[in-house]
Amino acid sequence: PLKDEQQFDVIVVGSGAGALLAAIRASDEGLKTLVVEKTALVGGTSALSGGGIWIPDNHDMPKAGLRDSIEVAFGYVKACAQGLASDDRVLAYVETARHMARYLAQIGVPYRCMPHYSDYYPNVQGALPGGRTMDPLDFNAARLGLEGLALLRPTNPGQLIFGRMHINAFQARSMLARERKAKWMLMGIMARYFLDYPWRSKTRRDRRLTGGQALVGGLLAALRQRKIALWLDTPMESLTTDAGRVTGVVVRKDGQALRLQARKAVILGAGGFERNQAMREQYLPQPTNQAWTSTPPDANTGDTIRAGAAVGGKLHLMAHTWGVPTLDVPKEEKFRPLFVERSLPGCMVVNARGERFLNESGPYPEFQQAMYANHAKTGGAIPAWIVFDATFRANYPMGPLMPATAVPDSRLRKSWLGKVYWKGETLPELAAEIGVDAAGLVASAARMTEFARTGKDLEFDRGGNVFDRYYGDVNVKPNPNLAPIQKGPFYAIRLFPGDIGTKGGLLTDRDARVLDEAGKVIEGLYCVGNNSASVMGPAYPGAGSTLGPAMTFAYRAIAAIQGKP
Ligand code: FAD
Repeated sequence: PLKDEQQFDVIVVGSGAGALLAAIRASDEGLKTLVVEKTALVGGTSALSGGGIWIPDNHDMPKAGLRDSIEVAFGYVKACAQGLASDDRVLAYVETARHMARYLAQIGVPYRCMPHYSDYYPNVQGALPGGRTMDPLDFNAARLGLEGLALLRPTNPGQLIFGRMHINAFQARSMLARERKAKWMLMGIMARYFLDYPWRSKTRRDRRLTGGQALVGGLLAALRQRKIALWLDTPMESLTTDAGRVTGVVVRKDGQALRLQARKAVILGAGGFERNQAMREQYLPQPTNQAWTSTPPDANTGDTIRAGAAVGGKLHLMAHTWGVPTLDVPKEEKFRPLFVERSLPGCMVVNARGERFLNESGPYPEFQQAMYANHAKTGGAIPAWIVFDATFRANYPMGPLMPATAVPDSRLRKSWLGKVYWKGETLPELAAEIGVDAAGLVASAARMTEFARTGKDLEFDRGGNVFDRYYGDVNVKPNPNLAPIQKGPFYAIRLFPGDIGTKGGLLTDRDARVLDEAGKVIEGLYCVGNNSASVMGPAYPGAGSTLGPAMTFAYRAIAAIQGKP
């Protein structure tokens, strides 16, 4: 017989955003809840994300003068999902996401909408030019306390200013788009950090948490407030069943296998399989490499996807990832995603022939897919190269290279040349350095320079819609995403078809219940986040399409467990 401390109503596996929200709501429903997390830190990829959530018809849109409707949002997601997510699930998502966002505010994690952040497919019917993506309000880490903060997985250095200060999505955009107010804002951020002696004397970590740090920091504070049991360093190994019903889990705790009972439900929220090379080779397009992902190296190896499949759970969308181009910076523990810089004017992406093959400013999942498609055709797009000239280098960041006006080449780490970035006085010189066809590269740059003059990218229509333009330079005319590529020296950085997580996993119903091959519910088993097959099918309808659903289906799962419609 199991001891009392091995018995719970709900066991939540993993500590990403979906998992934590499930635990908090379960506790608010009076359920005895346990969270088991494999690593020593809380938050998984969620903690180092942008924290954005995609919430149609959210409560903040009217304040920004925006209107939305469930019907329109449903039509948009349905079109994006291309038949690979059931209407029932899509509808459950678009109907419930806004309620989940209100609940987040109630538990101390408020969000606001981003009025100008466009959905990712502006040309699909039902897309909006802004408002559905929400960004968490800044969170004061003092609410977590130093002890709590020590449990929160820190963000990537690349997302911090000077490796220290947090910055929210509004500020990041303002700086990248070189808005006039950006300089003052940056000084404000630095002054606030450096003048905060009381806090800085205790820790180097910024008190002001933003993005995924604010999200998971806020959820962790809510978890601790409710005194919900949280066991770190406790991987789940398998599920236990009784007559087809999931009854609990086996975890490894202090080196021992330990059986735990879940009287009402096990909720799997333990991420995807992006760190599992064997699973990548089994399911994803080739070539593939676990090193290319931007998620924590010690976290998501698909353990709970396999455990769910072992009790009969159906797998779906296993060939898909939340794709993004990534790059390698030596000594950083994971590859950096390149979300934004590729959109700024004066750069282009080429294959080994020196040919462009995509819209550099388009949605990042499509970028990754285009790399695979072109590689299949030419054998030269993995890796691909992002090439930019001296004018770009002077004005904008690119991966770890800060603008040369702030950090000139002479102050870049010597070891980065030929590892992080490549350089040539002329385009043919650069082409020789990176093994790309020189004539092709010169011709592509000449075409880009001409497109910049006319404002029209005749090859891939870069800057042709509101999404592309969001991360353009507002000062560059006629097209904020296009500038000449003509002034030496020239630079290149190597890009891989990376990801910020996989999107295939256990297939669930509208309440996050895991389904078997026959489409029947496996009693007692729920699944959220990248552990489950995405409700978005193969697409990425807008920023926040992974965290929004993770938490929304967690919210619905608890309602379903409690028998609430
Ligand atoms: P995770 O957050 O990775 O959590 C999974 C947890 O489960 C981990 O802590 C892991 O250690 C644990 N675990 C794994 N195996 C076990 C086991 N056997 N037992 C117990 N625990 C286990 N998405 C958005 O929607 N909006 C954004 O703004 C956004 N920005 C991003 C920015 C960056 C830089 C990156 C890298 C990603 C971003 N993403 C964003 C993607 C998003 O972060 C992930 O898709 C999301 O966090 C996945 O959540 P999850 O809960 O499924 O997994």
